[in-house]
This record gives sequence, C-alpha cells and structure tokens, in this order.
Amino acid sequence: MRQKKIPMRKCVACQEMIPKKSLIRIVRTPESQILLDPTGKASGRGAYVCANIECFTLAKKRNSFERALQTKISDEIYDELCTRFQLLGVQKDES
Ligand SMILES: [Zn+2]
Repeated sequence: MRQKKIPMRKCVACQEMIPKKSLIRIVRTPESQILLDPTGKASGRGAYVCANIECFTLAKKRNSFERALQTKISDEIYDELCTRFQLLGVQKDES
C-alpha cells in the first residue's frame, strides 16, 4: 500500500501550500498572453492562486501575479481573468 503524494503548490496571495487541484493556475504563454489555465497544463510560466476571489483580489492588490509571471498585467486583463476566475471558482466549489 503506497501512499499517493498530493502535488502541492503555493498560493501567490496567502502563501499557503495548497493541493494543486484546489488552486487555479494563471499562465503567461510563450506568446506573452495572460490566461487562466483550467487544465494546469498550458505551457508557459504559471502562478497559482486559491480558488476564491479573496485570494485573487489580494494577489492583484499586491501585484503578486505580475511578480510571479514577470510581466505587466493591465486592468483589462485583470477584468477578464476575474470573470473567468469566478466561473471556475464556482465549478471547483461544486466538485
Ligand atoms: Zn490563497
């Protein structure tokens, strides 16, 4: 009986180690687009945040995504991310 190891990642906002499955990944693609990555498999530099809007808002306020992804993120992109984030967060709650 081997114990299965759960992959953990750190939330960029609250700095807690959380199972990867419960986090939402935001990725900077090789084309320098900032996207929400529901599969967690998109290529590029990624940042993880808890699937709750508090952490998202906190990360935005502290520029944690910009630091983690080493790029500027405009308000328009944040708005877009926020919309998708809330949709995803709801799905994660239900599962
Ligand atoms: Zn968090």
